[in-house]
Amino acid sequence: MFTNKNGILHVEEVDFRDIVAKTGTPVYITSRRLAEENIRELKRSFDFAFPLYAVKANNNLTLMKIFAKEKFGADVFSAGELYLALLSGFKGENILFNGNSKSDDEIRTGVRAGVRFSVDSIDELYSISDIASQEGEEVRIAFRVNPDISPETHPKIATGLKTSKFGLPSDKIIDAYRIALETPNVIPSGIHCHIGSQILDVSPFVEEIEKMFDIATQLENIGIDLEFLDMGGGFGIDYQNDGKCRFESFAEPVKEAFEKGLERIESKPELWIEPGRSLIANTTVLIAKVNSVKKSYHNFIAVDAGFNTLLRPAMYDAYHRIAVANRMSDEAEEVYMIAGPICESGDILGRDRELPKVEKGDYIAVFDAGAYGFVMSSQYNGRPRCAEVLVDGSRFYITREAETVADLVAKQRIPEEMFR
Ligand SMILES: *Cc1c(COP(=O)(O)O)cnc(C)c1O
Repeated sequence: MFTNKNGILHVEEVDFRDIVAKTGTPVYITSRRLAEENIRELKRSFDFAFPLYAVKANNNLTLMKIFAKEKFGADVFSAGELYLALLSGFKGENILFNGNSKSDDEIRTGVRAGVRFSVDSIDELYSISDIASQEGEEVRIAFRVNPDISPETHPKIATGLKTSKFGLPSDKIIDAYRIALETPNVIPSGIHCHIGSQILDVSPFVEEIEKMFDIATQLENIGIDLEFLDMGGGFGIDYQNDGKCRFESFAEPVKEAFEKGLERIESKPELWIEPGRSLIANTTVLIAKVNSVKKSYHNFIAVDAGFNTLLRPAMYDAYHRIAVANRMSDEAEEVYMIAGPICESGDILGRDRELPKVEKGDYIAVFDAGAYGFVMSSQYNGRPRCAEVLVDGSRFYITREAETVADLVAKQRIPEEMFR
């Protein structure tokens, strides 16, 4: 869906320059077709599982409406994400409210919306119980299990390590469910796990499923009827080449482990999965404009998007493919560092990239920017957040307008008496 037509990057049938003329730069541009292709491939490979879309990866309402329409559940991490999910058409009973630090207000919002909770601590269990009884509701819960698994990924996105802040350790989990059985207004009905993100090897997922069934067999012994085992998200994509997730390479071993596990227990829980990145990373390109080019110790291209717009390279040393959007047919000639406009030396979008000769006024395309892209952007250095666009065939829609400087001050209040 990202093609080169006469040297110019097109998103589906749209020339990126037509979009930039309307939105300015930087701008995130998403292909509807790619999103739908990912959904199809996920559903085909994982036809034995129920998918919940991980809202934190990208909470653009138009995209979320696509997932809601495709009957996905939603994995939310805050009352804000819950609000966005309900607004997009996700049903409360298909929403799992996650998180290691939920406020009473957030819990109340979730209870009223009829969601299920992934419970991170006994303190939280009691809060949910109290609030559910005040609201006259019964709440289905899973505990978040810390499975003590070390997948090969960046340490900042490995969430199932023994030392991680998430969940309860395996040796405390059975006691936690025992307590839940005796706690009013909560119904323990699932197990929740999530081992991390951008994981390319399937074996940690298989290990995770085996550990969930170890717990499931013990839970059956204390009389818990399991409705779902949620293995979380984390399926990695190929950032080096095409940005795609090979869903089938995960699905086959996962299915085998799940079916083997089912033979160990009486109940017939559903398998839930929570993909985020794998569904949307490759749907989106970030376009930035070149403000200047200079030879220093390195060849630097200075563009108008930095870690305020796309945090991943600075935060996770992430690699994103980069091209020159208006010189797609030119041969690579030089090696460049692509630098953002932020007043920090770590503000580099790409290092040592071979690109065609770049000039001031050119446009840089940063691919696979659909997951953990706009959602992590900030106004640092007084830079308003940029626009988002959805392309559908030969049409495009501005799905989020760019902020202006007015947005930098919208919530600020100056105590005027101090300056009289
Ligand atoms: C972040 C997260 C996900 C999604 O992870 P991806 O790597 O984007 O698939 C799913 N579940 C939980 C609990 C998460 O924290």
